[in-house]
Amino acid sequence: SRRAADLARSTPFDHLLGFFAHVYPERRARPGVLDLTFGNPHDPAPAAYVEALRASAVPRDEHWFGYKVSEPAARAAAADALRGVVGVAFEPDDVHLTTGGFTALALALKLVADPGDEVVFSIPPWFAYEVIVREAGLVPVKVPIVPETFDLDLDAIAGAITPRTRVVLVNTPNNPTGRVYPVEQLRRLAALLDEASARTGRRIFVVSDEPYHRIVYDGTTFHSPTEVYPWSLLAYSYGKTLLAPGQRIGYLAVPPTLPGREELRPAIEALQIAIGYAFPNAVLQHALPLLERIPFDVALYERKRDLMVSGLREIGYDVHSPEGTFYLFPRSPVPDDRAFESLLAEHDVLVLGGKYFETPGRFRISLTASLETLEASLPRFAAAWASVR
Ligand code: PLP
Repeated sequence: SRRAADLARSTPFDHLLGFFAHVYPERRARPGVLDLTFGNPHDPAPAAYVEALRASAVPRDEHWFGYKVSEPAARAAAADALRGVVGVAFEPDDVHLTTGGFTALALALKLVADPGDEVVFSIPPWFAYEVIVREAGLVPVKVPIVPETFDLDLDAIAGAITPRTRVVLVNTPNNPTGRVYPVEQLRRLAALLDEASARTGRRIFVVSDEPYHRIVYDGTTFHSPTEVYPWSLLAYSYGKTLLAPGQRIGYLAVPPTLPGREELRPAIEALQIAIGYAFPNAVLQHALPLLERIPFDVALYERKRDLMVSGLREIGYDVHSPEGTFYLFPRSPVPDDRAFESLLAEHDVLVLGGKYFETPGRFRISLTASLETLEASLPRFAAAWASVR
């Protein structure tokens, strides 16, 4: 269809799909290569994770593997944990389990926006925003961030709002910048959206994409837009905290402050079915109360972050120390980030060029590689640096 062909050509899929299909498999296959490309786990899965799945795969009733919408025990466990992270009294009935964060985002957009509506988001974006927005028949409207601080550029957001704006998509902690937006900034965003909604006569929603909200460092307090703006929908994925992104489970959570939220419930369930029975599989739902008890190893990731930030800075790289997520987003020493990505690949280190984040001149490193791999990468980063300086 024309629509599918358009999606394959949308930014950054026009480049990324070729990278996935040809460049990455070829580079990865080289012996001794150090892969810092994607947020895939390199360390063995924790025993508690494996045990939770094993225990949940043993049927306890005849419906154990039957069609599941959102299992009450899973919803209750998720709502409970969410209340501990986000200062909002989420109720179990407002936690709608999904097949990961991708689905939660698609669901959120289709729930509140009609075809032709505009969705504002900041650059650098996560690579799937544009394609998810377009697939829903919506129009992406991209705004810059504040380049020095990686903060939301609130003036740019205000300037991008039109009578067709229905959603501002916010990602905190941010992939790829690692920025955790301060609550004061979210309050200012809320005020500007209140004002703009009143002006245009149409409520603008925030879709808050927060799969990394438990991955914050140095005692940083995470704040969700749902705390300050009732017209917010929260998309979450367990793939990051549990370092198991292929095990597809997440949710869309509706805050109790959202006016008329009960009316959304049948629409959410209808959409979940209509977009391909987007409820997560039965075993993952059964496992959720156990999975919720497995913490993210913040101390290990702080170690990895500090090792790489100080190691790269010593070499000469300009790199920011992220407050959250497991990514670094250094400046490339040459303006062409893809040329530098290729040069690093020649030194057997794989990263993702800023091109894929619509941010030329930078590249992204994932800290999900093991500590040993990260350590081994530093002399190679040094050699690549020396060859261009
Ligand atoms: N949002 C952001 C910012 C992400 O980085 C990702 C995954 O990389 C997702 C959403 C989707 O998460 P999942 O693959 O677990 O559905």
